[in-house]
Amino acid sequence: MTTAQQIVFTAPGTIEVQTNPVPVVGDDDLLVRVRRVGICATDLHVLDGHIGDPFPVVPGHEFVGEVARIGERARTARGLEVGDHVAVEMLLPCGTCDWCRRGEYNICAEDDVVNGGPGRQYGISLTQAQAPGFWGGYAELLFVPRGAIVHCLDPAIPWDAAALVEPLAVACRCVARGGVSLGDDVVIIGPGPVGLLAAAAAREAGARRVILVGTRDERLARGAGFGVDAVINTRSSDDPIAELRGLLDGRLADVVIEIAGVAEAQQQAVRMTRRGGRTVLAGAIGSRVPVAFLQDEDILLREVEIVASFLSAGGFTPAIGLLARAEYPFAELVSHRFPLERAAEALDLVRGKRDGVMKAVLLPNG
Ligand SMILES: [Zn+2]
Ligand SMILES: [Zn+2]
Repeated sequence: MTTAQQIVFTAPGTIEVQTNPVPVVGDDDLLVRVRRVGICATDLHVLDGHIGDPFPVVPGHEFVGEVARIGERARTARGLEVGDHVAVEMLLPCGTCDWCRRGEYNICAEDDVVNGGPGRQYGISLTQAQAPGFWGGYAELLFVPRGAIVHCLDPAIPWDAAALVEPLAVACRCVARGGVSLGDDVVIIGPGPVGLLAAAAAREAGARRVILVGTRDERLARGAGFGVDAVINTRSSDDPIAELRGLLDGRLADVVIEIAGVAEAQQQAVRMTRRGGRTVLAGAIGSRVPVAFLQDEDILLREVEIVASFLSAGGFTPAIGLLARAEYPFAELVSHRFPLERAAEALDLVRGKRDGVMKAVLLPNG
């Protein structure tokens, strides 16, 4: 193999299929043969130009695959061999900024593409223009330098389940940021893949009741397999807050995790949180329109703690453990599979939320 295919967003709204020379693998590097890459709403934000100007960019940050080639030092340092199944974290930490040194590498100072700086996120802000250009999962191969965080996957995990490792890691971080602990009543707003996975992660953290909130019945119905006890459809409900109280013996939730990425959901998240409880805002809105809260009534007088949860730092290890235990129907979330060259069609499907799509994936190597 001397060349490899990549899907490239060359400019906002423009998708190309390219064939490019396979990168040289240095002593400290490896190449991953991508087996699955999930299509994420974030990829649409990238395509639409909502996340800075990384163009040209190879999209795809939800990838898993196997080691295709590996440099000698990387082999020793990482304990990996050709053929090992791996997940690579989507943020390539600089390792030296204040935040990386504190372990908060998900907010690495060197990843600042929205302010016109360089980016360090695979598939989102690492531009293809930076050599060797194989920085996204919509490709046959992915380049992994020293400094990237690589996790070995049990080969018994089916690829379709493994494809969910990144969204599950995001979900695990949300639950950790929410401080979910034994006996907590947890509301998850947004029944997409991360929301469903967050329900399972909250259940694993010891939640008493897990309530899934959204607007689409067919998505809410999937919650049952992921540890959800009850659902609220905010579109058909006359009063979602009253409905929540009805489910929780008159109380509100100890922890609310919002992963819908719309202003109304974020406002609702705060209002569904009990006095002294915690709201986790994890959804990207994709616009610069402010979200309004009633500071006094909704937040101050009830001392609601609002935290953000960004990306997946610290989430991969618990996520991989959950995938290996296979107690939830992870692979069933993969609703659609496409070959690499049909990426544009797959993105359209995800944008339109058509055909019951939950998680669409590309299979760049068949
Ligand atoms: Zn994603
Ligand atoms: Zn850093």
